[in-house]
Amino acid sequence: MNNKPKKTVIIGGGFAGITAANNLKNSNTEVTIIDKANHHLFQPLLYQVATGALSPGDIAAPIRAILGKNSKIRVVLGEVKKIHPRKKHLSLVNGRKIPFDQLVLAPGAQYNYFGNEEWQEHAPGLKTISDALKVRERILQSLEEAEQLQDPQQRQMHLTYVIIGGGPTGVEMAGAIAEIAKRTMRNGFKNVKEEEIRIFLVEAAPNILNGFPEPLGDKGKDMLEELGVKVLRGTPVVKIERDTVHLKVGSIHSSNIIWAAGIKASPLLDSLQVEQDRLGRVFVNGDLSIPGYPDIFVLGDAAHFKDPSGKPLPALASVARQQGIYLGKQLARKEKGNYLPPHFRYIDKGTMATIGTAKAVANIRGLKFSGFFAWVLWSTIHILLLIGFRNRINVFVEWVWNYITRKRGVQLITDRSRCRHCSNNEVQVGRKKSI
Ligand SMILES: Cc1cc2nc3c(=O)[nH]c(=O)nc-3n(C[C@H](O)[C@H](O)[C@H](O)COP(=O)(O)OP(=O)(O)OC[C@H]3O[C@@H](n4cnc5c(N)ncnc54)[C@H](O)[C@@H]3O)c2cc1C
Repeated sequence: MNNKPKKTVIIGGGFAGITAANNLKNSNTEVTIIDKANHHLFQPLLYQVATGALSPGDIAAPIRAILGKNSKIRVVLGEVKKIHPRKKHLSLVNGRKIPFDQLVLAPGAQYNYFGNEEWQEHAPGLKTISDALKVRERILQSLEEAEQLQDPQQRQMHLTYVIIGGGPTGVEMAGAIAEIAKRTMRNGFKNVKEEEIRIFLVEAAPNILNGFPEPLGDKGKDMLEELGVKVLRGTPVVKIERDTVHLKVGSIHSSNIIWAAGIKASPLLDSLQVEQDRLGRVFVNGDLSIPGYPDIFVLGDAAHFKDPSGKPLPALASVARQQGIYLGKQLARKEKGNYLPPHFRYIDKGTMATIGTAKAVANIRGLKFSGFFAWVLWSTIHILLLIGFRNRINVFVEWVWNYITRKRGVQLITDRSRCRHCSNNEVQVGRKKSI
């Protein structure tokens, strides 16, 4: 019998990859986890970095700090370029080849511009810390510009915010922008009047919060409208240019356009050359392996795993975490010939979205909540799910501070390349210069 430990390689240190690695740490397997970022990112709170409520360090933790203590787990900072499933190795962008006996693929997803990649430049999405900082800079910069401008049309463009996509991310973003633009920041900007600020949430489907049961979409819309957000439902976007969103009926001029409308799986999966769905997700078996490759597994946003009704599981952190736990345990037990059931089962514990500082909608195991109680539930669950005691404490303190004072802590502008009115020698229009 061959007792040599198996080489298990995990691609991606997101929710699925980190939990899979954590559940493998007491096994005999040699684990290597590869990520192109050096940190695990809690994406559900990215919009809070984009709106200045939290700092990047509050929602991210270095992968080495999470897993590096375990002598059997190696952490590699690198981008995987190609997977060779038959030869059982993968190659990194820097040319390094890494062999594996078992491969766990958890590279997540990216924003889907539905074939209009040129829109990305004008309407960035929120996926990484640098995306969130870019959006934060735009929001703060536009308020600064409006403060100095006289021309009403120009002012309106800077004081208009368009969020495209009425899922939880778009709804959370619109609520948070309404609060900062209309409440938190207004005291500091003496020339900006509340009635000048316009926030649009644009959704192509007939309602927002589509994954939520019926009344919650309407409740979410009412709460957003109370905050001053105009919710445009059944309104597809036809084109995006710099500072303009063209809708089926009319256009909106805005220097703050944010994309939150749909995702597609990581392009890395294409190199497997196996069956994928229209969003690029790989079809997986009940045990998360790929048909024809019993030692290659795909998890999280990258996987098309059918629920009992035949629909794919949604792209949620809870799905990714549960799949990571299942597979980590399964691979650890496999060594001992002691298997879990050969079929992953997802336990839906609920979905929720926050709207502004003290309101949310939540569907917990069929029970529907909205308002303050839903927000307390949302805050508690998100704090518990964050990795690291320090991050939990930081986020808790920031939220209590924000709730009491209605102030956003993080309002620094460091990149002024988009500023058209800064008269500072360090900055020139359309050009970045280090400061
Ligand atoms: C703004 C936003 C808000 C969200 N809000 C919620 C929410 O409220 N509730 C909820 O349940 N879900 C939410 N989600 C979805 C949730 O974050 C995802 O479902 C979850 O992150 C998927 O986990 P994953 O492990 O599959 O992928 P990810 O967490 O995305 O991790 C993938 C990892 O793979 C790495 N990677 C990718 N390609 C490569 C490569 N080629 N080489 C090396 N490394 C690579 C990435 O750097 C990343 O660290 C939100 C997502 C976003 C973007």
